[in-house]
Amino acid sequence: MTASQETEKTGHARFTYRLRVSSTALTKLLGEWARCRWVWNECCARSQKARAGDEECGPARLDKMLTEARTTNTWLREGSSVPQQQLVRDFGKSRTKALMDIKARLPVRQRAGMPKYKKRYAADPSLNYTRRGLRIKDGRLHLSGGVMLTVVWSRHLPADPSSVRIYRDSLGHWYASFVVATSPQPLPETDAAIGIDWGVRETATTTSDTHDLPHAEHGRKAAAGLAADAAIGAAKRELITMARKHGRIVHLVHPAHTTMDCAQCGARTKHALPLSERSYTCTVCGAVSPRDKNSARVMPVRAGLNPAGADRARAAGPQVHSQREPGIPAFGARRSQGEPPSPLHAKVYS
Ligand SMILES: [Zn+2]
Repeated sequence: MTASQETEKTGHARFTYRLRVSSTALTKLLGEWARCRWVWNECCARSQKARAGDEECGPARLDKMLTEARTTNTWLREGSSVPQQQLVRDFGKSRTKALMDIKARLPVRQRAGMPKYKKRYAADPSLNYTRRGLRIKDGRLHLSGGVMLTVVWSRHLPADPSSVRIYRDSLGHWYASFVVATSPQPLPETDAAIGIDWGVRETATTTSDTHDLPHAEHGRKAAAGLAADAAIGAAKRELITMARKHGRIVHLVHPAHTTMDCAQCGARTKHALPLSERSYTCTVCGAVSPRDKNSARVMPVRAGLNPAGADRARAAGPQVHSQREPGIPAFGARRSQGEPPSPLHAKVYS
């Protein structure tokens, strides 16, 4: 069992505003973006060389590359160093993530992949400035490199931002997205816990019947699959953000075999259930439950929580293990289809 705990005391929030960009500022922003794009593509080239030749291409090496490039190229030096350094850092992060995904043998569909070249007409401008590259004065946003922008302050910015991302969307609108540190607002303590299974049929199935998240739309198309992955990603991020904000603990549970373990008695089936099989039938204790509900109930057990505590988060209703999804054949019906559940197909897991 591996469970890690999110213990960070402070979180951060993003505050995004529309920008009014003068033609002078526009020329400057596009110039900064052109230089940043060059830096990014140079990183891509270095990274490809590194993979082919087994060279080092870590963050320190890329930082050095930027320093050298700024020394050699006057035109690159004309731009602010802040967004260029941020871009090198972002590149390093996504490259490290891609390499870790490959090492972890994550299914290709779930991988973000190695950072790709940013093409001139395909990539929307995006520039990141840390605190030392941004200043708000008289309601205007000043960026290093002499860029001055008018922010449409549609809501109050609650604190000094630690960074800002300036970007243009596909419609040509410019935005400033500020990052602001937030202090936790703990909610009263309860001893309730909830288990969540991120799913295929639903975005999330939980140990509580009232907290399940259905997919906005589900189907077999690749696009629907991608939309579902994005929905799961967004829900996870929001969950962690809210947990940080309100002083709740999130245990991240290793997902291996969560669909094969019985939440009732801990037995593990010998073979993975095919995706078409929507109910989990334990050959050891005989518990029958909807497949995703069973997985959700495995989570708190793995996180070392009292499963009874998880049950308390459930709305009053019938026992989960006695529920069946409509349309799923009952135990006996499955047997008649020539799939006799045999005790040999299960082993006790402790
Ligand atoms: Zn069982």
